[in-house]
Amino acid sequence: MDKLTRILRRGFLALCALLFITGSFPARAEPVRRVSTEEKRIAITFDDGPSEEKTKEILSILVENDVKATFFVIGKNAEAHPDRIREIYEAGHEIGNHTWSHRYLTKMKADEIREEVSKTEEILTEICGEEPRVFRPPGGYYSADSVALIEEMGYRCVLWSVDTRDWTMNSAEKICQLVQNGTGCGDIILFHDLADKRLSTPDALQTILPRLREEGYQFVTVSELLD
Ligand SMILES: [Zn+2]
Repeated sequence: MDKLTRILRRGFLALCALLFITGSFPARAEPVRRVSTEEKRIAITFDDGPSEEKTKEILSILVENDVKATFFVIGKNAEAHPDRIREIYEAGHEIGNHTWSHRYLTKMKADEIREEVSKTEEILTEICGEEPRVFRPPGGYYSADSVALIEEMGYRCVLWSVDTRDWTMNSAEKICQLVQNGTGCGDIILFHDLADKRLSTPDALQTILPRLREEGYQFVTVSELLD
């Protein structure tokens, strides 16, 4: 290696180190999946609602078990069932943004993402008088750019660490098994409050919520878990 190459190489490495130390390298935007904690706190979440019957059923089970949860709602469903949104909000649950029409972030241009998110934000703010602060990407699909864009809009982008697969219409027993075997401190559990009559989520909740409480878990909203 000649002297010039050596000097250039050293200069380049020094610049990299400087950029790294000062944090000038752009951080890769990643959604939150769970929170690292030793406290027995977990967040129960429901996606794709609200729906007329199933959301209502789930809300009363949450009241019976004194559980606060987070609902990642679809904007157009919120528009169709504003009363459900009001009930969720007034019961003290958190409401998150799940886009207007459940389009995948990876299939949209930046402008389309902005529109899907802000249209949902508008209707939720209109109904509740409070802006949603958490966002969940439909299908769990995202890119670093789309997450950065969502975060620029003021959201925490949130996925999950325990998947009940309830949207496949699996049995209440199977859902309980997945939750019981998979849940630990700081986990975020994914359920759905879909309109489909076959959805066994309410039945599963009747069993699993008291069981988790017996094990010492505290139920918090996603924002509370992240704080
Ligand atoms: Zn969804």
